[in-house]
Amino acid sequence: MREKIVIANWKMNPSQAKDASSLFSVSNQISKRYKTTVVVCPPQVFISLFPKNRYKKLLLGAQDISTKETGAFTGEIGSSVLKPFGVSYVIVGHSERREMGESREVIAEKIKTALRNKITPVLCIGENKRDGEGHFFHFLKEEILFFSRHISKKDVNKVIIAYEPVWAVGSKSKGVMSSQDIHETIMFLRKILSDKFGNESASKIRILYGGSVDHKNSSEIAKVSGCGGLLLGRASLSKDQLENIVRNLSK
Ligand code: PEP
Repeated sequence: MREKIVIANWKMNPSQAKDASSLFSVSNQISKRYKTTVVVCPPQVFISLFPKNRYKKLLLGAQDISTKETGAFTGEIGSSVLKPFGVSYVIVGHSERREMGESREVIAEKIKTALRNKITPVLCIGENKRDGEGHFFHFLKEEILFFSRHISKKDVNKVIIAYEPVWAVGSKSKGVMSSQDIHETIMFLRKILSDKFGNESASKIRILYGGSVDHKNSSEIAKVSGCGGLLLGRASLSKDQLENIVRNLSK
């Protein structure tokens, strides 16, 4: 069975380079102990501190990527800059970036740029709220179908989908989603992918869950939800939390 994966989204933390280096080192130690793939996504400015030649298991991701690869795009960071530092994953379409105005079209361009440069895009999708009538299912279907139009069948299993209900993400969240609901939603997303790309391709796509995962709820989510791994925010900054979660996913 394929190892489950943890994507550690540090967001805009830590503020000091020395703390980023020690978080790399702690995450590396943890990744070596368990059969779980761990990808750390530090703020872009710390990417160059990642000792890619010394680490055999821990992988490096970026929190964002430019739609452009190189050139006169002030403030942007493209694949040709990220790739030589060992970046092999990139988070795209995170709800915090969408809230700053990132459109679906821009996210689709980022997925294409990443794939062209052999960087695995981790596409975040999720509803803002869960209504009683199930309108969120309609929203999720629309999202998947939109992005599916920009990904070819041969590339689809190179994309990771992170199902992140926006209401469950971050410090202002309403808390984690139940494992049963995560399971139901992942099945729903897989069915849409299967209708679009066929059973075989769809079954290979990793679908992760993200949103208020911690050491207490990760064991049940890992067992019940059918997720291929987890996207972590806050918990990825704590050694104990990270180790517990990575261990729970390795069972
Ligand atoms: C996230 O930012 O993607 C996330 C899942 O955050 P948290 O785990 O803190 O809810």
